[in-house]
Amino acid sequence: MDLKFSQEDEAFRQEVRGWLDANLAADWRHRGVGGYREDEDENVQRHWQKQLHEGGWLKLAWPRESGGRGATPVQQAIYQEELAAAGAPPILGRLGVSLAAPTINLLGSQWQKDTYIERILACEEVWAQGFSEPNAGSDLAGLKTRAVKDGDRWILNGQKVWSSGAHYSDRSFLLARTDPEAPPHKGIGYFIVDLKQPGVEVRRIRQLTGGGEFCEIFLNDAVVEDRDLVGDQTEGWKAAMTTFGFERGGLANASRFESAVVSLANLARNLGQGSDPLVRQRVAQAKIEAHTFRMNGLRALTKAQQGAAPGPEASLTKLYWSEMDKRIQETAVAVQGQYGALSPDDAYAVEEGRWQLGWMWSQAETIYAGSSEIQRNIIAERVLGLPRGR
Ligand SMILES: Cc1cc2nc3c(=O)[nH]c(=O)nc-3n(C[C@H](O)[C@H](O)[C@H](O)COP(=O)(O)OP(=O)(O)OC[C@H]3O[C@@H](n4cnc5c(N)ncnc54)[C@H](O)[C@@H]3O)c2cc1C
Repeated sequence: MDLKFSQEDEAFRQEVRGWLDANLAADWRHRGVGGYREDEDENVQRHWQKQLHEGGWLKLAWPRESGGRGATPVQQAIYQEELAAAGAPPILGRLGVSLAAPTINLLGSQWQKDTYIERILACEEVWAQGFSEPNAGSDLAGLKTRAVKDGDRWILNGQKVWSSGAHYSDRSFLLARTDPEAPPHKGIGYFIVDLKQPGVEVRRIRQLTGGGEFCEIFLNDAVVEDRDLVGDQTEGWKAAMTTFGFERGGLANASRFESAVVSLANLARNLGQGSDPLVRQRVAQAKIEAHTFRMNGLRALTKAQQGAAPGPEASLTKLYWSEMDKRIQETAVAVQGQYGALSPDDAYAVEEGRWQLGWMWSQAETIYAGSSEIQRNIIAERVLGLPRGR
């Protein structure tokens, strides 16, 4: 395990930092810390994505032959660290950029690559993920949305749920069953669906935060041209696994939690709670956990840098950071005493309610990208060698 960054990596860090200093507007900083208000920030996120794309950052990890920068895993981590340290907002088309575009680049047809990738990265189109269904989340292979071939097009019927940002998205990368007779993991197609057509209805779901970022997608004879099928019509599951590989790779960012712990300590101090022994214990514990997470991340990075494929440690990472963040956010709300119970929009809410929002968001973190229970199942089976659960 090598804990030092090379001179080349330090030079890369300076390059990222310099670019951020020159390009990230002061009033766009720190919107992402402790929860953000997705409706209010839509335009900021759209413009920020365009800027990052023009700066050549959205293809940082892509291979050089695909026009990318071929950055090493360490450089990708440095880039994420610097974005977090600068308090950069998220980008609007994050699912298209981080999941759909690299999947199309690997598995899509030349026509799909030429038509869609640039539009996704430049935020000319926003894409939503249409995988989960009311009865198919953790058990995704149980999905029921049907795709029936009709000449050189497909007709889709069914329902998707929890589709993030579908209400402002143009297209969805969506899974549908092409062969109901095949075993669950076979007979699934990976489709690119135009969300603005008459056969598609998108409904927002009101959520705990007061926002409505997640949507149901109803497909009633929605039409997809054959050219918008990614890969073979029965190989959608493999394509979905490729997409999940990009999702797992992009989630861990130690500096986000380290900055959250610094903010937590400041909050406790500012509220006069810093000398309370119970508060001190919890804040110190949060510091230890964030530091442990960083050390473990560096170990995983060293392995990745040496060319080893990510193993089940991706599950350890996901489980650890999501459960840890819940504890950080819970402590921040508890430190506020009765003020912690105020709605984020309340005039008396501490620090504009950002911790309350962060606490609400943290509840979702142990669900998306594989829930904690699913991660524990993977660790039990693949790391500890326990028999498969019933
Ligand atoms: C913030 C957020 C954003 C999301 N965005 C999208 C999106 O853009 N597109 C999309 O398609 N989906 C999205 N999802 C949906 C997400 O993928 C699912 O919520 C997730 O897969 C879990 O599925 P589920 O909600 O159906 O819960 P279920 O699978 O029904 O699980 C319910 C509970 O049972 C537990 N459980 C399930 N199976 C097992 C098992 N075998 N062993 C032990 N416990 C088990 C789970 O851990 C959970 O606690 C998002 C979810 C969240 C929270």
